[in-house]
Order: sequence, then structure tokens, then C-alpha cells
Amino acid sequence: MGLLNWRSGEHFEHGENCRCTQCGKPTPLRSHAGEPVHKVCAEAWNDRNPNAPRFEHKGHDLGTSRFHSDIPSAKKRKGGAR
Ligand SMILES: [Zn+2]
Repeated sequence: MGLLNWRSGEHFEHGENCRCTQCGKPTPLRSHAGEPVHKVCAEAWNDRNPNAPRFEHKGHDLGTSRFHSDIPSAKKRKGGAR
């Protein structure tokens, strides 16, 4: 299963749960399109729809166009010196 990277705070709607469009249970999570959906439900959808249009950023496949990972930050922190 392809895991999504939804670290950005934009995915959390604080204080408000909406019904997940996939499983119908409440979730504070939102997709990039603002659609209420659990991350695991989005990942499951991606698995069930392998032929869905892909979302790409600078040559990286971030998932489907419906549910995709956060765009990688241009600044990558490397281990070691800060
Ligand atoms: Zn769900």
C-alpha cells in the first residue's frame, strides 16, 4: 500500500469532525481538496484505483490526483550540523 505524507497542518480541521466520504465515520482529517477522509481511507482508495490520474511534482509521483501526498519542501534538512 502506498502511504501518503499528510504531515502538513492543513489536513487537520481543528474542532470539527465530518463524516469520512469513504467509511462514513467522523474524522478531523481533510484531503488537499478539503474532502473529509481518513488518511488510511485515502490510501485504501488509492490502492483500489491504481489507474486514477497521478499527481506529480517535479518528477515525483505523489499519489493519485484525488488523494496525494504533501508536496516535498524545497528545503530538506539533513542530519548533522544545524
Ligand atoms: Zn474513513
